[in-house]
Amino acid sequence: MKIKLAENYGFCFGVKRAIKIAEENSNSATYGPLIHNSKEIQRLNTDFNVALSENLADFQTGDKAVIRTHGIPKNELSELYARNVDVIDATCPYVTKPQQICEEMSEAGYDIVIFGDDSHPEIKGVKSYATYGAHVVTSVAELEKLHLKERIAVVAQTTRKVENYLEICNYLIPRYKEVRVFNTICNATFENQDAVRKLAQEADVMIVIGGMNSSNTKQLQSIAYEEQKIDSYHIEGADDLDESWFEGKELCGISAGASTPDWIIQQVVDGIKAMTK
Ligand code: SF4
Repeated sequence: MKIKLAENYGFCFGVKRAIKIAEENSNSATYGPLIHNSKEIQRLNTDFNVALSENLADFQTGDKAVIRTHGIPKNELSELYARNVDVIDATCPYVTKPQQICEEMSEAGYDIVIFGDDSHPEIKGVKSYATYGAHVVTSVAELEKLHLKERIAVVAQTTRKVENYLEICNYLIPRYKEVRVFNTICNATFENQDAVRKLAQEADVMIVIGGMNSSNTKQLQSIAYEEQKIDSYHIEGADDLDESWFEGKELCGISAGASTPDWIIQQVVDGIKAMTK
């Protein structure tokens, strides 16, 4: 069986940047997981003594706190500064952008609509910047229930599919006097998604590698499975591979989420090669 990697996969600019920042700040702790990949977090801990703390109270004066790529809520950031914690901000600039938009547009009197998952750390952070609150929706059906002001500003979670964002915008634009649409979907997501779409047209089984809680990895898998109708599996690493997936298959396509390091991808490639010899 042949194995082919997607044209674009794996680490994006924001994650590479965050890892470099963490590596340059050994003897620190990240507040929440730096990226959505437990194996890489473990490596940073072992090789650079970058610990992980889920609890804000753990950070005290003089401690070094590395802020994760998806950002944290505004009040928590203020609290860290107020405690004189040494804050190292590794928030991806593509996440800082919607945070700034929410703050500015909310203060300018716009009602804020965020297209994304309310429980996702990125959205919790972005929402917290809307000074007068924000509505977080995942569908037009949810929008229909809202009573919004005449002036609306809309942003999207960086990993959302553009087609779905357009549905939200298309609903709002004819119904309200002023709708300011900001394209906050990240290019890295587009590039990895387009590459999966292309590869899934020729492959007959697809392996998508990434943390089980990584939403962009889940989306890559769903593009291969739902749009292209090929067998596709979301795994975290080589240990999750199952020989039966490759029986009778000729080309295995491989992609990986934006937080998946190359060394894990290589282990998976080696694992598949060993299983299909
Ligand atoms: S996927 Fe995009 S927004 Fe998310 S960390 Fe990477 S570059 Fe930043």
